[in-house]
Amino acid sequence: MFVLGLTGGIGSGKTAASDYLASKGICVVDADVVARQIVEPGQPALAAITQRYGADALLADGSLDRAWLRQKVFAEPAERQWLESQTHPRIRQAIIDQLQNASSEYAVLVSPLLFESGQYQLTQRTLLIDVAEDIQIARATSRDQNDEQQIRRIIAAQMSRTDKRAKADDIADNSEDLAHLYQQLDQLHHTYLQLAQA
Ligand code: ATP
Repeated sequence: MFVLGLTGGIGSGKTAASDYLASKGICVVDADVVARQIVEPGQPALAAITQRYGADALLADGSLDRAWLRQKVFAEPAERQWLESQTHPRIRQAIIDQLQNASSEYAVLVSPLLFESGQYQLTQRTLLIDVAEDIQIARATSRDQNDEQQIRRIIAAQMSRTDKRAKADDIADNSEDLAHLYQQLDQLHHTYLQLAQA
């Protein structure tokens, strides 16, 4: 299976780009979605978390209390390490399983931390959705009503735009309107279909 890794910073347009490729029949696996699936009730990762922290880690309906857990690992690096040892291998395996089930000509793995997490190793080629920081901040703040400081902190924690540009095989510029993005994706899609067939 030819897998395209699609990445970009917060608010860069990853979802806009992957939705467009999905509309062409391409199967999309989203690493953020998988990360939530593996801690759903009944999943072994959630059982491990409740074994370690007890009911404190759960909301009244039995689902994971993400805010509580975020606070817990924020304060204690060793706990963060333990949590990642429980979740990262399961996320990776679930991504592999979902990609293997993809039935389209090629598949897309969307991940904001494609390079940082090593998930790019599951892909044959990488595409960066690239946008200037001021546009990224404007779009991310208007979408989430996140305050600008919060968005800036997230950007600072992600790999720099320069480093991502150097690592990616392909770059789509998303600083203009969606039609401009789709035009570039049409060409790239054509290339990926050819690569997948080769
Ligand atoms: P995140 O990593 O935060 O999930 P993302 O990279 O998936 O973000 P999107 O959700 O696709 O980014 O885009 C961020 C916001 O910007 C959305 O509200 C989206 O509708 C808007 N947007 C994306 N591309 C464009 C564009 N070319 N023109 C105008 N608005 C856009």
